[in-house]
Amino acid sequence: MMKIHIRTFVNDFNGLYQTIEKALPVHTDFTWSYQKNATKLTTEQLIELLMQAVDLVLIPVSEVQYINANELNVVALLDNQNDTSNPLALIAVNNQVIQKIDDLQFDIRKQYGRVYIVGFGPGSPDLLTIRAQRLIEEADVVYYDDLLDDTYLKSYNAELVYVGKRKGKHSAKQQEINERLYKSALNGKKVLRLKGGDPLVFGRGAEEYHYLSQRFVDVCIVPGVTSALAAAAEAVIPLTSRGVSASVAFTLGHDAVYNKLPKADTLVFYMGASQQRNWANRLMQEGWAPQTPVACVQNASLKNQKCLRYTLAELVNSHEVLPAPALIIVGQTVKQYVAGRPQRWLYTGSDLSYFKEEGEVVHNPMVKIQKIPLERSQVELVKNIRAFNRIVFVTPHAVHEFFNALFECELDARILSDVEIDSIGESTSKALKQYGLLIPASSATNSINGLVDCLKNEQIVDEDILLPCSSDGLSILPDALRQMGNRPYEFKLYDSVLPDNAVRHNLDDFTGIVFSSPKAVRHFFQLHNCLPKGIQVKVRGVYTKMVLEKYISKSEMPVVVLSTENLSEFDT
Ligand code: SAH
Repeated sequence: MMKIHIRTFVNDFNGLYQTIEKALPVHTDFTWSYQKNATKLTTEQLIELLMQAVDLVLIPVSEVQYINANELNVVALLDNQNDTSNPLALIAVNNQVIQKIDDLQFDIRKQYGRVYIVGFGPGSPDLLTIRAQRLIEEADVVYYDDLLDDTYLKSYNAELVYVGKRKGKHSAKQQEINERLYKSALNGKKVLRLKGGDPLVFGRGAEEYHYLSQRFVDVCIVPGVTSALAAAAEAVIPLTSRGVSASVAFTLGHDAVYNKLPKADTLVFYMGASQQRNWANRLMQEGWAPQTPVACVQNASLKNQKCLRYTLAELVNSHEVLPAPALIIVGQTVKQYVAGRPQRWLYTGSDLSYFKEEGEVVHNPMVKIQKIPLERSQVELVKNIRAFNRIVFVTPHAVHEFFNALFECELDARILSDVEIDSIGESTSKALKQYGLLIPASSATNSINGLVDCLKNEQIVDEDILLPCSSDGLSILPDALRQMGNRPYEFKLYDSVLPDNAVRHNLDDFTGIVFSSPKAVRHFFQLHNCLPKGIQVKVRGVYTKMVLEKYISKSEMPVVVLSTENLSEFDT
């Protein structure tokens, strides 16, 4: 008869006898003793105990901290009737005791299922590894995250459980996910834990691995294509490149103030979409050149993939950016192979000095100003200009044409002494200065919305407001002023027309096109039916973008909105 003495750290004498008896080989004569405060034992003390005093130790799995000690061996896991998710570990040192009991009848690990922590890749199922694909086919249950296409998963038999953290949906906490994986494994299931990209790149895969392996669940990790690699491939951005970039860092982007900035030639920000502008700012503050190219790749590998390219300086000023899920790639390699040919831009504005893109520029102004002769009623209006409380100038053209009208009526700026004057854009203010009118500079009034906000702040109501403009009118500005309780009046002084010498270019030869005003967009589409696929589009100001979207579908064409900087949105 084999004699074994067990030290138990569990205070449940009734259930325990049967549990141990069931586990140990028949004809084993065992005795046992109870010891309090097991958690206070160090690994060394436990080993000493097993070498000198007892043959086996029985301890709840949740308290096992000794797994990494080579000398210790968990010979069996036993059912814990009091707490099914906390089985009891029967521990021995590597000596003959184990040999004596190696014909253990009972080890609940034999009933456990296996857990696979698998990378799904960036989203498109054909970027799955063959191993991942096989495991999906064989799984009983799949726990999956955001960014995964569950229509693909639905074609398999596994039970699907969403445990992502998407806004607005039920969000499972990490601890809850760990526990659910564990329970499924205890129930003998073949469990797949599917994660976007790679499980070990911003994926918390190792935490789940650790949680499960500490509880003696068989678990393994299967790598996936991390989204940075997919984004780089899709946008043809080498992450390293001989002579240009010798290192790449994948970095956490969710906080542009506190996240550390790694030292590398190419940076890839994960989870940084909402912080793009802040990162661009921070990078420039830390010495990256404002001209450093940046790409934002959204939904890499999926049908709705989009990619925008900027410089750091442009990104800071852009009105709109692509939202998550997106990666921001920063570094010289971003522009190394753009479209595989030198940059060539079509510029539709009238003043080339505002062209800021890199590369060759083809200047093709889409707007020409044509004076309209003053009507009788307009002459009367000019003579009674003091009846207006305020004049808002929206472009330099409006300024020049307005003063021409004044002079035609043999008046000058003195007639405006009691009238408030506002301007949109620094270039408009500059034009006013030529006529002796000084408008304090305010970056807030570089756009219609900025000006409207200023007027709201000043509580401007019940005013007659004159808006010198082109024959097309200004639509949104008068509407906004009217809504505030004012009486705007569009004073139509000139036509803006498509110049006779505007050229219809073959757009396939261009990297991109810059639309400088709503009118430029309209005139451009008098010449062209559509834009070629893949051409980059930059527009000045959100209003120009709104007009552009009447001609192209939003989803087809990613558009970079440039800040109006010192220009008004109506500048040509
Ligand atoms: N383990 C994942 C990353 C998870 S963190 C991986 O290896 O890719 C989530 C972030 O990954 C998102 O905020 C986004 O920055 C990025 N991401 C994941 N899939 C993406 C995709 N298809 N396109 C662009 N970015 C993606």
